[in-house]
Order: sequence, then structure tokens, then C-alpha cells
Amino acid sequence: MGSLRIQVCRSCGRGYYPPKIRCSCGSRDFYEVELREPGRIVTLTTIYVPPMGFEPPLRVAIAEFSKHGLKVLGRIDGDYSLRVGDRVWAVENNGVVVFSPAESGEGE
Ligand SMILES: [Zn+2]
Repeated sequence: MGSLRIQVCRSCGRGYYPPKIRCSCGSRDFYEVELREPGRIVTLTTIYVPPMGFEPPLRVAIAEFSKHGLKVLGRIDGDYSLRVGDRVWAVENNGVVVFSPAESGEGE
């Protein structure tokens, strides 16, 4: 199991992925940290005509990681049924962010 390394502003604590040269607060002083909290899906969609190199259907989502005020775009692999509000882990796999469900156990 991998993880996602993000860039965090030393001045205001805001996180970025992918990294930026300058934070929105103006600082250029960053450090890297592994994202150790699950995020929450804020939106998701399925792309049936994806760009070259991707197998359709391609499911993509944006997840928010509140601790760092960070929103990350990634894809959902596997046959999970995920909805807006669900908690997910983010890992980086060959430069692509992949989300997987944070809750274990199925059914409710
Ligand atoms: Zn900042």
C-alpha cells in the first residue's frame, strides 16, 4: 500500500498536490509530508470516452482533506460504489492519484 506525499506551507499550513511554487498566502517555504488522513469525496463522475491510455469507463473524483485544506483530483479503480461524502484513502501510483474506500466492511 502506497501513500500520497503532499506539500505543506510552513507559514499557513495549507497543503498542495501537485506541488506549487508559491502558496496562496505568499510564502514559498514548503515541506513535504505523507497524507495520513482519509479524505471525503466532494464530487465524482464517470468518463466514458477517456483520453488515450485510459480504459473506459474511467471514474474520477475530487476528495477534500480538511486538515490541510486540500482538494485532490484522482481516480477510483475497482468496483467500489462510492458517493459524495464517503471517506477515501489516497495513494499515488505512477503519478496518478487513486482513491479507495476508507471504511472497511460492507453493507449498512
Ligand atoms: Zn501558505
